[in-house]
Amino acid sequence: MGIIVQKFGGTSVANAEKIRVAARRAIRAQQNGNQVVMVVSAMGHQTDHLVDLAKQITDDPAGREMDMLLSTGEQVSVALMAMAIHSLGAEAVSLTGAQIGIRTDSSHTKARIQSISTDRMKKLLDDGKIVIAAGFQGIDEDFNITTLGRGGSDTTAVALAAVLHADACEIYTDVDGVFTTDPRLVAEARKLDRVSHDEILELASLGAGVMHSRSIEFGKKFNVPIHVRNSQSFSDEPGTVIGSESESADRAVSGAALTKNEAQITIAGVPDQPGVSYAVFSKLAAVNVAVDMIVQNAGADGTADISFTVLEDDLPKALAASKKAADELRAQSVLHDASLSKVSIVGLGMATQTGVADRMFRALADEGINLEAITTSEIKVSALVKRDQALAALRAVHNEFELDLPPQDRVKFGEAASAAGRRTADAVDIVSRLQRMEDLAIESVSLDESQAEMTLFDVPDRPGISARIFEAIASENILVDMIVQSIGRDGLADISFTVPRKSVADARRVLTNLSKELGGEVRDVPAVAILTVKGIGIRSHTGVGLRMFKALAEAKINVDLVSTSEIRVNVVVGADKGAAGLAALKNAFADVLG
Ligand code: ADP
Ligand code: ASP
Ligand code: MG
Repeated sequence: MGIIVQKFGGTSVANAEKIRVAARRAIRAQQNGNQVVMVVSAMGHQTDHLVDLAKQITDDPAGREMDMLLSTGEQVSVALMAMAIHSLGAEAVSLTGAQIGIRTDSSHTKARIQSISTDRMKKLLDDGKIVIAAGFQGIDEDFNITTLGRGGSDTTAVALAAVLHADACEIYTDVDGVFTTDPRLVAEARKLDRVSHDEILELASLGAGVMHSRSIEFGKKFNVPIHVRNSQSFSDEPGTVIGSESESADRAVSGAALTKNEAQITIAGVPDQPGVSYAVFSKLAAVNVAVDMIVQNAGADGTADISFTVLEDDLPKALAASKKAADELRAQSVLHDASLSKVSIVGLGMATQTGVADRMFRALADEGINLEAITTSEIKVSALVKRDQALAALRAVHNEFELDLPPQDRVKFGEAASAAGRRTADAVDIVSRLQRMEDLAIESVSLDESQAEMTLFDVPDRPGISARIFEAIASENILVDMIVQSIGRDGLADISFTVPRKSVADARRVLTNLSKELGGEVRDVPAVAILTVKGIGIRSHTGVGLRMFKALAEAKINVDLVSTSEIRVNVVVGADKGAAGLAALKNAFADVLG
């Protein structure tokens, strides 16, 4: 007999009738010979309602009391679900996170799961009961109730499936599965049959709200098969399988996502020397602000600008911390823009293709959309745009990559990524090293000495410039790895990227020709070193970048470019600093490298 975990989101238990529909589904699964664990969210918008109530009392509620409050939403729905199952003639028991024994740390409102005991659930299952677990909650060492962060019931579900060695984890929601982008924003969005852990991890952290990204970390670490489906579909239609495979190996892009409320901060005119990034980001970490899209560019005068994005909600805290850092570093000024959004494309296939980023830039340029900043990682390209153009930007990229069409109809472009789709979750061995379930899982620290860095300084900051540059580079078949475009200042921006060392002469020629027309100044560093820390959930554990910056600062190594994704952080440093940087990072992560 197998174990199935079925999770029902808020809209899927929004009223009595929907609760009954969910109850019948669980009973059916049990009648088919399975042991069934249900994970249930709070009804409808109940959690939002509770958050709102708290706001009416105070601007600054204590985290502990917030969790006490928020956990009640799920307690209501598990009880009702058990009653529904009883009334349909089956046996069920509802349990809170504490009653199950979901142990978390004490970081209220965003607690991480440390361990889950299975005894009580197993005994109930063996007695023929359907176990109904309250999603999104746990208990810390001192028996305080904790919650896992908004959307955290997905994480409860996948974590339970992992510890119970369930045969399947079914996520029932209000859409048919994972789509190429949010179907509420782009009507042409298409349901994916399959999506890899890495892609959905990236999509989820870049704004695809369909799954809590930490649930995918569990899925990948513990190899849990996840099936996202529509709770209202009576025909048992298949949804989306999240696993080690991508939908198609030869498609560059699998999905697109939008993070609407981004704000960007620039600390201008900081001395360009080792330790500066650490000084800035440690201040932000100290006030619990997660930073994204980090762009640094060194000016000619020995100073640099450091820019990064934060969620708009965090802007006041982030600005205060940035000003403190700027004062200490004697930087010239702190600038910010709160009206931005981030549009991203994600796909395993793009790691091995040329001509992906430039197509995105061209599609946006054709809509007259300026790119305020660009960062990439091996499986994603993100661009910062003005918020009033965000939706148009998302639609333009969705259309450009023909995400509405099933893969076989898609025009093939660039080299086929033969190996990309076969990449599997090679993470299983990491698990044995983890003390607690959600601990940071680092796979490796590595050094790449094959790359060079190209920069075009002071190009006009207007639509179409990046498109021109990367089209010209792609037409020479030069494989571009990291791309970083600075936030424009005084109408000018800098664009840096890495290419294989053997392509430097070609890239230099292309940029020099372009600079005649666009203006700007070309610089190349024919050899750089790229240091990479790879693992699972790198961005949700915000300390990874910080630990890298700290280690490199202590080793007096200057960081030139940075790119982050869910699965790795890359930093570019001088070629002569590669070996020392590698040693410093290995040392810094020794405790988690095993
Ligand atoms: P639940 O309450 O079931 O957890 P959520 O509201 O958290 O449901 O997630 C489902 C919603 O996620 C959908 O209604 C959809 O609008 C949104 N969404 C965002 N991006 C995507 C995507 N790429 N695929 C599917 N749904 C998405
Ligand atoms: N009820 C919680 C929320 O709304 C958890 C969840 O639904 O996943 O965030
Ligand atoms: Mg959800």
